[in-house]
Amino acid sequence: MKAFKWVLIVIPLFCSVFLCAQAIAVKAGKLIDPESAAVLRNQIVLIRDGKVAAIGPDLSIPAGAQVIDLSSETVLPGLIDCHTHLADGAQDDGDPVGVFRKTAQQLVLESIPNAKVTLESGFTTVRDVGTYRALGDVALRNAINHGYIVGPRMFVAGAYVTITGGAGSDSGLAPDIQLPWDMHYGEANSPWEVRQVIRKLAHDGVDHIKVLSSGAVLTHGSNPKSQEFTLEELQAAVDEASHFGLRVESHAHSPEGIKNAIRAGVASVEHATMIDDEGIALAKQRGIYLDMDIYDEECIQQEGRAGHMPKDFLEHDAQLGQIQRENFRKAVQAGVRMSFGTDAGVCPYGIAAKQFAMMVKYGMTPMQAIQAATINAADLLGKPDLLGSLKPGKYADLIAVSGDPLADVAILEKVEFVMKEGQIYKRK
Ligand SMILES: [Zn+2]
Repeated sequence: MKAFKWVLIVIPLFCSVFLCAQAIAVKAGKLIDPESAAVLRNQIVLIRDGKVAAIGPDLSIPAGAQVIDLSSETVLPGLIDCHTHLADGAQDDGDPVGVFRKTAQQLVLESIPNAKVTLESGFTTVRDVGTYRALGDVALRNAINHGYIVGPRMFVAGAYVTITGGAGSDSGLAPDIQLPWDMHYGEANSPWEVRQVIRKLAHDGVDHIKVLSSGAVLTHGSNPKSQEFTLEELQAAVDEASHFGLRVESHAHSPEGIKNAIRAGVASVEHATMIDDEGIALAKQRGIYLDMDIYDEECIQQEGRAGHMPKDFLEHDAQLGQIQRENFRKAVQAGVRMSFGTDAGVCPYGIAAKQFAMMVKYGMTPMQAIQAATINAADLLGKPDLLGSLKPGKYADLIAVSGDPLADVAILEKVEFVMKEGQIYKRK
């Protein structure tokens, strides 16, 4: 027993002094640092135990270290998408009613390729903001964390916290159709019901809370111009979530839905489609993030042309896409904090990086667009000490591309190298 204790004490000491885990040295010819908004030359990133141990131009590489030579490429921190729906299964049906033809287990297993292709496209972390069947995202996150399957680091919502018949509900059914528990798990219709749902979600191990404070585009019977939840209900959500250390993001298209959410104290507004001047001023004053999915319109209209999108969804979407893009430009010009979120699942998984060029087209510099998907996203997640840039103590999440994304941001659509927590997942 005594000897056993001695071994337990000595092994960690021995490892920290003599570096038990093999060190990795990444040679980066150019490194984009979103924190200083600078391009650093000939950097060496030393990695141990999945984290950055040191970074700089003249570091000596420890004997026996695995050397990864990216000296002819541009290295960036792993990208972060703050608005995904990875656990919604295969994209073989444009209609949410399609989920009724599948079991919950089938949906999660079908989601495995969604996670893999997302990571391989350069997104090493995602904030996943809801799923048709509650807690499928928790299962997917845990399977990735255990190493059963390959995917990005996921921070999940567990379910949509929504009013009955609202933007996050499976609506459009006859009132005598009984939904299974996991299809109405997040429904709440008073401040106390909101608190009850959030208590359950916190117990189920979610990482943040997703509420919906306006109608939606891609939901039957929903009007994106409407307001959902009262200010009192939204305040209850933010307050209750804070008891568990959880942040709240709110889906909102309508001006009042957006402003209610900001006044209630959410961390980010998703979509923010019809945000007005007052909403922009409020967002700036409160220092919250706008997470605007301005590429999606391309995919929605493409699906519509192919006949894969219900007519009422396309009508919701008419004109809104362009309004959202113009409002994105206004928010950027006003200096509102912006994060990178794509609503992946509306567009095919794995093409999120196409949004970078759209963000630049509507007013951002390439560096600002990269910051939205790195340091801003890490801050929104509440993890600036672990994610968003390559600094000692942070996760060794990094990607590489050929060429200069600051000259042509679309280069980020062709990521050639992906490392998550010191492990290589893609190398061309
Ligand atoms: Zn969404």
